[in-house]
Amino acid sequence: MTRIAIIGAGVAGLTLARRLQGSAEVVVFEKSRGVGGRMATRRVDSFDFDHGAQFFTVRSEAFREFLKPYQARGLVQQWQPRLLSLAPDEKPGECAWSEPHHVAVPGMTALCKAMASGLDLRLETRVEALHRQPDDRWRLAIGADRSTAFDWVICTAPAPQTYALLPPEFVQQHPLLGDNTMAPCIALLLGLQSTPDWHFDAARIQHDVLAWLSCEASRPGRAECQAVTLHSTATWAAAHLDDPDDVVAASMLAALRDITGPSLPPIAVQQVKRWRYAKADALESPQLLLDPDLQLAAAGDWAHNGRVEGAFLSGQRLADALLTHIQKSA
Ligand SMILES: Cc1cc2nc3c(=O)[nH]c(=O)nc-3n(C[C@H](O)[C@H](O)[C@H](O)COP(=O)(O)OP(=O)(O)OC[C@H]3O[C@@H](n4cnc5c(N)ncnc54)[C@H](O)[C@@H]3O)c2cc1C
Repeated sequence: MTRIAIIGAGVAGLTLARRLQGSAEVVVFEKSRGVGGRMATRRVDSFDFDHGAQFFTVRSEAFREFLKPYQARGLVQQWQPRLLSLAPDEKPGECAWSEPHHVAVPGMTALCKAMASGLDLRLETRVEALHRQPDDRWRLAIGADRSTAFDWVICTAPAPQTYALLPPEFVQQHPLLGDNTMAPCIALLLGLQSTPDWHFDAARIQHDVLAWLSCEASRPGRAECQAVTLHSTATWAAAHLDDPDDVVAASMLAALRDITGPSLPPIAVQQVKRWRYAKADALESPQLLLDPDLQLAAAGDWAHNGRVEGAFLSGQRLADALLTHIQKSA
């Protein structure tokens, strides 16, 4: 049976693995302790934060169909926060969503955890390089070890990391990988000692430092607690990505007070999370990155529309193309 290594257990990697499983022997390698990638949930003391993707929309029939069983189990639900648009010294603006926005319950990683069930998954396993053997199969370099050989390797890391990992013969064929810088974002996770006196649950923010605020308790299935996630703007993150945590946190808190006023409840916990490759631009036409001669491929949100749904569609499209190829060459 064809052996396929998939690098990355985010939405794209897990979509690929689920679709290819059964038709090939699939192993998923993930450098983090858990699955989900940028669909991330983090617990700090008793506070839970969705500090990566905030929600997802559903615009394609394929994604709608895929989500149905998870919705039936209550694992995916609509999120309907009281949403405002906020700017310093301006009256808050109403900011209604024009389409349903969904989240995984109780946290964003829940969907990927469910998708990962039954897969051969190697967590805390960073793939450092790929080596082509004389028989044209690929061996992955993993720390001091070398894994067993694979016929195909698919990388679903963010575009700049995929560019760095896959061999030049592959990446040079796909200018998208070299050109796709992806915007950073810094998240500040705040656990407050009491509920803030705000009349909203989430806000789009017009400010040099901050772009987004979300009160975690407004998400479906969350225990009542005073957890707040802040996201910086991409421009500010790019300029401050390597600043110390306390400097970053102080600037983001000052910006929060600019927006919501000085009276923030005492802070019980605070943590900074840097997303070096947070968001990719939406492409006008999604791309399929697959080389049947090298037996290498790549997928991810950056090959589609830079969103959760795009990561799913990119993974699904690549899996279907690969299945056709495997069946033809069998
Ligand atoms: C702050 C933030 C806010 C966002 N908000 C939204 C939103 O509101 N709505 C929306 O639709 N999208 C949002 N997104 C984007 C969304 O999270 C992504 O589009 C989607 O999760 C991408 O999935 P993916 O599988 O393509 O990539 P990822 O989730 O990045 O998965 C790639 C995986 O590869 C792993 N990996 C990388 N290199 C290696 C290696 N060498 N070896 C092993 N494993 C490796 C990584 O650890 C990661 O788990 C947001 C993202 C961020 C960061």
